Amino acid sequence: MLVHQILKSKGDTSVITVTPGTSVTEAAQILAERRIGGVIVSTDGRRAEGILSERDIVRSLALRGAVCLNESVDQMMTRNPVCCTKSETADSVLQRMTNGRFRHMPVVEDEELVGIVTIGDVVKARLEELSMEKDALEGMIMGH
Ligand code: AMP
Repeated sequence: MLVHQILKSKGDTSVITVTPGTSVTEAAQILAERRIGGVIVSTDGRRAEGILSERDIVRSLALRGAVCLNESVDQMMTRNPVCCTKSETADSVLQRMTNGRFRHMPVVEDEELVGIVTIGDVVKARLEELSMEKDALEGMIMGH
């Protein structure tokens, strides 16, 4: 299973981005409205300069209090996020997410954003694939 198949199965390939100057409050509102856990930070909507996850916001709130909500996302985001390409395998992405302890990965082609996959997308796609493989193997063993 490849990343491009995961993107296809998600249907909606739009990527939600915010600019570096967006306030953390606005970014939190976007996360809540769109029911997502992370947003890519990009000036032009094409290059992933950073990523801001709900974890970054929670961590900053715990360490520094509500003052961080008025800051801009570029003060809180993780810079130069680890990215994958459409031709990478789901297993490789899963491995890199597990090793890096993050759940979001921008998908880029020629350094331009073409999508985002979450650990949930990858696990769902792999489970569906394993279920289909199981059905096919059962079919072969039972002779149908
Ligand atoms: P997450 O598990 O994705 O909510 O993020 C956990 C931490 O990893 C946060 O500090 C994020 O900013 C950071 N992070 C999320 N995605 C990536 C990524 N693709 N590359 C590097 N860091 C990331």
